[in-house]
Amino acid sequence: MSSALHPWLDTPLREALSHQQAHALLVQGAQDRGPLDFSIALARAWLCETPARQRPGGLACGRCGGCHLVDERSHPDLRLLVPESLRAAAGLPADEAGESGSAKTRKPSREIKVDAVRAALEFIGLTPSRAGLKVLLIHPAEELNLVAANALLKTLEEPPGPMRFVLGCGAPQALLPTLRSRCQSVVLPRPDREAALAWLQAQGLQDAAIVLDACGGEPLRALEQAREGRDAEAWRRFPSQVMQGDGAGLAGWPLPVLVEALQRLCEDRLRQALGLPARSFPQLEPLKAPVATARMIATLTETAAWLRTRAAQADHPWSAPLAIEALLQRTRSALDARSRPL
Ligand SMILES: [Zn+2]
Repeated sequence: MSSALHPWLDTPLREALSHQQAHALLVQGAQDRGPLDFSIALARAWLCETPARQRPGGLACGRCGGCHLVDERSHPDLRLLVPESLRAAAGLPADEAGESGSAKTRKPSREIKVDAVRAALEFIGLTPSRAGLKVLLIHPAEELNLVAANALLKTLEEPPGPMRFVLGCGAPQALLPTLRSRCQSVVLPRPDREAALAWLQAQGLQDAAIVLDACGGEPLRALEQAREGRDAEAWRRFPSQVMQGDGAGLAGWPLPVLVEALQRLCEDRLRQALGLPARSFPQLEPLKAPVATARMIATLTETAAWLRTRAAQADHPWSAPLAIEALLQRTRSALDARSRPL
């Protein structure tokens, strides 16, 4: 099991360890920023058995028995509470308990099951067997249902023994406010651009900057997109494909990816209308003639809002070609300055 943390998470990890005051941390960050890896790295540092004075910044040593057991996901004082769908990402084996042998045929569940919460509560009641404390990691915490969250709340307020909690969370607003307020927040920042580019280049990505910008500066998403065929060349072409309404050229794109890219394109046009350079798509042709800025901004804002409603439904099985056509048509007309001359 690799224990290397993505390089852009190094500094946030050191900061979280040095500023930690509460026994419960809430790690906030979109999936793309690696909140799960980050939370595991925190747990590893807390469970490291090398004396703290020998570990700069309180980071895990990576060599002791405690670190080794965390890396193997077999540390008796660490419990990872994650849904089935994230077990592999958390480095855990598939759930042996399975459900009546159907585990292979159905989609892995995204919920944190009540049984797992119950087992976690039992774990909290045990005395630490190896380290001086126990760690319960819950990710994503917004998947806890009301009953489970309330059951945990009590132990979070008054843990029965030496206990640390780390809750990972992509949507803190979906969390019970009482749960949120019991935790110290750690917000994962947007990855540092230089570190992200260096990492992408080390993964063998060509023209990494083009892909990174098109993917909102999120390196993990950029790599995933490139591996799915949306490489620098594809992103370079994208603005002109939209301006030409080239639905056929974009036919293979998953709708959520397309919707998000169109949102970024609208945002870039807004920036241009305000006299700023494009951020995600530097290849987007600048506005040539002066335009009715106020009207253009209003239309782009409306279109961006409409795209957000489309994004919410993008997981649904629409008729893809028709959906792509509709998306392109509306976005294109909002981006086109000629329809709104001065
Ligand atoms: Zn260690």
